[in-house]
Amino acid sequence: MLKLAEEIIKGRRINREDDLSVFITADLNDLCQGADRIREHFVGDKVDLCSIINGRSGKCPEDCKYCAQSAYNNTNCEVHDFLSQEDIIEACHINEREGVDRFSIVTAGRALNGEEFESAIKAYEKMKKECDIELCASMGFLDEEQLHRLHEAGVSSYHHNIETSKRNFPNICTTHTYDQKIETLKKVKAEGMYVCSGGIIGMGETWEDRLDMAVSLAEIGVDSIPINALMPIKGTPLENEPRLTEEEILRTVALFRYINPEAEIRLAAGRALLTNDGEKAFKSGASATITGNMLTTAACATIRSDRDMLAKIGRRCKKIEN
Ligand code: SF4
Repeated sequence: MLKLAEEIIKGRRINREDDLSVFITADLNDLCQGADRIREHFVGDKVDLCSIINGRSGKCPEDCKYCAQSAYNNTNCEVHDFLSQEDIIEACHINEREGVDRFSIVTAGRALNGEEFESAIKAYEKMKKECDIELCASMGFLDEEQLHRLHEAGVSSYHHNIETSKRNFPNICTTHTYDQKIETLKKVKAEGMYVCSGGIIGMGETWEDRLDMAVSLAEIGVDSIPINALMPIKGTPLENEPRLTEEEILRTVALFRYINPEAEIRLAAGRALLTNDGEKAFKSGASATITGNMLTTAACATIRSDRDMLAKIGRRCKKIEN
């Protein structure tokens, strides 16, 4: 695997024609060591930290089987309309002070529209003026004009997960399609924004599905790949899915790094399944993470513990003033 890592560093790229089974059968330590070399070469030691605020929660008309916020599922998730601009901007300031690189408003639903979209634009304009932080958005199936307006308002990155492989997608959602997701990602790219797209593992997919997802993201040319490990939620159709092991998560993180050498490989949900919130994953190809916990002082504690853990393994985060 170290030889393959060196080839990738010298310019080789993995595609569908390659024998991808090597990523399933390789010795895990060798695989992770090679992934760490590739990360070091292309991304370096800086870890990209992002945090999100749940801008509109619950009552979603889509039927994503993993999601607490789908109206099809019977969960106790928080339900609220679009947050006030003040709450969003306050959260942005907190994250800026804690040395987070990116801050995103994430909204449930097929797409954010109308007055709520206008309110989001105003919040972004204000954050752009007041805060030294990259702004991101995750608002579903937006059209070209909406993406352009977000971009103009200061949003540099748009997040839209493909979630899983094209083959497995109908097993986890039937109210929209994988191809609609790809169309949205193409619009984000055409707008010239940083593209953030990944998915969730542990939803009953095979290793071939995970490999297919990694190659599909490489074909699109995404900049950032959030990898979520499913934390099964009671009241969703996936509530009884077995928990992933740390080995499975590390192997997935590592293979995504070989196949997407220049991208940020971003740890997302499920870090609780990993030793010390992901220490080994950061040595297996991961270069970024979602941190914090929205608008609470506990969020600061989480960001700080992440920064401490990363410093201990020799990685750098954005400097904090004072
Ligand atoms: S579209 Fe988003 S919020 Fe709605 S059910 Fe799917 S994942 Fe959940």
